[in-house]
Amino acid sequence: MAETNERLINRGLYNEIKTMFEEKNRTIPDKYYVLMTEYIEAVQKLRDFGGTDLDPVELAMMLPDKVHSIVEMSGLYVYGITDQNKITMNANIDEDKKKLYFFHELTHALQTWEKGGVEYCSFSNGENGMFLTEGATQYTAEVLYNVSEGKELPPKTLKAVRGQPNHQAYSFLSEYPLNGSILELFAITLRMNMGEMLDLGFHKDARRILQEKWDSNVMLSGNNVASFEELMQKLETVYEIDKTGLSVGFQALAGEPVPLRRPNGTRYYGNLALQDKLLTQTEQELSVAFIEFNDYDYVKQRQHDVEFALTTPKLKTNMRMAVSALGNINNIDKTASR
Ligand SMILES: [Zn+2]
Repeated sequence: MAETNERLINRGLYNEIKTMFEEKNRTIPDKYYVLMTEYIEAVQKLRDFGGTDLDPVELAMMLPDKVHSIVEMSGLYVYGITDQNKITMNANIDEDKKKLYFFHELTHALQTWEKGGVEYCSFSNGENGMFLTEGATQYTAEVLYNVSEGKELPPKTLKAVRGQPNHQAYSFLSEYPLNGSILELFAITLRMNMGEMLDLGFHKDARRILQEKWDSNVMLSGNNVASFEELMQKLETVYEIDKTGLSVGFQALAGEPVPLRRPNGTRYYGNLALQDKLLTQTEQELSVAFIEFNDYDYVKQRQHDVEFALTTPKLKTNMRMAVSALGNINNIDKTASR
């Protein structure tokens, strides 16, 4: 273990975590006990600032059940993989980046639940929802990483969306900035702050709770709003095309639609043009929901946050025009009632 880690981590917590794993006969490389300790410490610090309601002790107790092994492997095309209870980290990433990427994988592991033979992970029910899950996981990892390092969150900047030159995400995330922006749109639309949204990702019923929030808003506002399932399905295809692009190269998806396969085996035709279309539709539908679900004062108050989270100039313009039209209606209403 590096000398700096010896000084910085809480030895008591480190020993308790290590003992819990040893009692279950699970053997984890020592540096990952250090990183798990730092993760739990970061949750405690974040809680002290009021940034989370997660209970660090509860999370620490879950670790040996959620993580059975951690190995490093060379030649992965991603930074890490979490498969049920096994975390595989890419052996070829820099040590200083490993902590952030491990925090991402550990978040996945902590948010994975086996229910009725189906693997739920945060907002994913095994069928769809992984798009939001990746956004929430990376968001959580970056918040905890920066807290752990004693740093402020990096400022948001415009970031290219992989394979989509017309879309840019305004984000501080170093990975999955698009997913983070869409998650913000969901949070703003449902009047949640990001801390609540990220905490929800750890809930065993995260998917159901988010869907119920959506559905109850649809019930109150009535018409014209996309269903939760429809949005999740579109975003899943956006996510699948991104994942395919990462493994085979985005050039292979630039032309006519090609046959692709979802993890559940179903086949579909997809390319970057389809991804652009689905992403644009989803953002447009989220803009509509934001206006339909909320009163005019809230819409006015959060309008700029929504504009920033949208990823094309046209979507931002549409949003501004819709709010301004709503303002006119609102004024007419006030005049009429005078
Ligand atoms: Zn991930």
